[in-house]
Amino acid sequence: MLGRFDYERPTNLAEAVRLFAETPSAAILAGGTDLLVELRSGRHAPRLLVDVKRVDGLRRLDVGPRGDLTIGAAVSLNELLEHAATRWSFPGLAQAAASIATYQLRNRATVTGNLCNASPAADLAPALLVLGAAVGVAGPRGARVIPVAEFFAGVKRTTLRRGEIATEVRIPAPEPELRSAFLKQQRLRGHDLAVANVAGALAPSTGTLRLAFGSCAPTPILLAPIETKGMSAVAVGAAAAAATLAAASPISDVRASAEYRRAVLPVLVRRVVAELLGGGAT
Ligand SMILES: Cc1cc2nc3c(=O)[nH]c(=O)nc-3n(C[C@H](O)[C@H](O)[C@H](O)COP(=O)(O)OP(=O)(O)OC[C@H]3O[C@@H](n4cnc5c(N)ncnc54)[C@H](O)[C@@H]3O)c2cc1C
Repeated sequence: MLGRFDYERPTNLAEAVRLFAETPSAAILAGGTDLLVELRSGRHAPRLLVDVKRVDGLRRLDVGPRGDLTIGAAVSLNELLEHAATRWSFPGLAQAAASIATYQLRNRATVTGNLCNASPAADLAPALLVLGAAVGVAGPRGARVIPVAEFFAGVKRTTLRRGEIATEVRIPAPEPELRSAFLKQQRLRGHDLAVANVAGALAPSTGTLRLAFGSCAPTPILLAPIETKGMSAVAVGAAAAAATLAAASPISDVRASAEYRRAVLPVLVRRVVAELLGGGAT
């Protein structure tokens, strides 16, 4: 049972913000792939769903003159994956998006919805954290921008204020020759949420490595940048694995025990580092 609610499908942003802000207990509906599960289970019972998939301007998927990327809140994961500039400039993000569920589900699911759902296991979160991405927001008090690093407030909680809608994800222009990668451990082959996920981005010109991980703390975590100049891939992998474990606070749940997560997380980190820096690691 889905419960009873009203449904609105505005076509402009001001109307969407007004509807969402003026109705207590309203929810934004994007792809619905998380929200409908919540509605069916009864964990969430909003009085109004504001569908943003037809809102003007939220379907944009633009590359700026310097290579920065804007992904509107109505853009599906498949649209992102079919976008050549994304695959070319941000392969780690493409790997993360491709790891989510099935083709059919990716036709509905959005990038912004993955962040707004604020699951610790959200696969796009680490991939966007290492790219320095931010979320554009519109609300009753105007527009603002929240870095993804400041977007998560806890399990299923974001720093969006009441009445605010995420309008897009903005990825800054990549540093020259930027390399990025994403790896995910799941219980089974095929589609499954992450037991642990790790993303990395390396700027070869400066030697700075950014790493982020998910499903091993209440929110996805971005580590402090790691300087790799003059270090072997193995030494960087060891340092990165130690930093990751120090920042992790995994729990045991239906997908894995905390002990298993602590064991698998450094393995993923070393593999991502090896992929980005070259050299063997397991
Ligand atoms: C079978 C299945 C497999 C899945 N596998 C994975 C997986 O492997 N990895 C993974 O990370 N996720 C997975 N998911 C979760 C889900 O598909 C993703 O999180 C998806 O990206 C959510 O996007 P959506 O557009 O469907 O969000 P919705 O369900 O529409 O919304 C999710 C939440 O965010 C809010 N919201 C959405 N858009 C906005 C906005 N613009 N502004 C403010 N709030 C907003 C909604 O109100 C809701 O609370 C899976 C889900 C299912 C059902």
